[in-house]
Amino acid sequence: MVDKVSKVWLDGKLIDWDQANVHILTHTLHYGLGVFEGIRCYETHDGKSAVFRLREHVRRLFDSAKICTMPMPYTQDEIVQACLDTVKANGLKACYLRPLAFLGDGAMGLGAVNPTRVAVVVWHWGAYLGDEALKKGIRAKVSSYARGHINATMAKGKISGHYVNSILAKREAKSAGYDEAIMLDTQGYVAEASGENLFMVKNGEIRTPDLGSAILAGITRDAMITLAREMGIKVTEGRIARDELWTADEVFLTGTAAELTPVREIDDRTVGEGAMGPITAKLQARFFDVVKGTTPDHAAWRAVV
Ligand code: PMP
Repeated sequence: MVDKVSKVWLDGKLIDWDQANVHILTHTLHYGLGVFEGIRCYETHDGKSAVFRLREHVRRLFDSAKICTMPMPYTQDEIVQACLDTVKANGLKACYLRPLAFLGDGAMGLGAVNPTRVAVVVWHWGAYLGDEALKKGIRAKVSSYARGHINATMAKGKISGHYVNSILAKREAKSAGYDEAIMLDTQGYVAEASGENLFMVKNGEIRTPDLGSAILAGITRDAMITLAREMGIKVTEGRIARDELWTADEVFLTGTAAELTPVREIDDRTVGEGAMGPITAKLQARFFDVVKGTTPDHAAWRAVV
């Protein structure tokens, strides 16, 4: 359950949590044409709070809206401010932020062009896959559901309706006793997990699917590539086959919610030593130092609340 907070930003105003309701004929609720973001705000080493890569997330929200031909009734600066105001109004030191742009009620049918409405909700959200997962890693299964073809699913958009595919994959994996689903694309190459990007390590080098494939351009993915290269680790973007994962030395997932989660088993095969590998561990430690501002570098990635 999400713990109730005090205020929600809706259509330009901070309103009470209990007032943040929509009509049953809200268009997006029926057809899924809506766009959203997931962003984390961390408590920093000095007791302040900082939102990680806020501008990049807001930029992606607007890119998603453009892909969906949804006009945005606010500027990017206004949504950045709305995010900061919503965190402040709720007095949370660390939280998850969910900006959502959706088509409101009015007309129904696929041709309807109801005005876009925008909300920002924040709540406390701990480790997405659990605290244990961050340390010990998770068990994943390649899904029977493929990521949509690049010309069917607009994977560069974080689009509400796309998540049916992810939810089916996640439910399938969970009901078979695994923690997470890894999804292949329609050609059979590794794409991403249900809500995370995927990386593998082999012989000291990192590989991850390229942005031309059916994956979301993860902002954590981008941060991880930057940090790894700064640490002198080679990172290559390109196609990965399923059995390359089985024979990798390390595999890990990245995402705003999942942060950097090691994968210790895939399709009942142990990955590496079956524990967090040394490169994953180094990168995870560096990631948490950067998001929490324990290290002064990459200050531009931290929007102080
Ligand atoms: N892929 C999918 C399908 C996702 O939902 C997410 C979470 N937004 C990611 C990857 C990771 O993206 P990010 O690092 O920007 O959160």
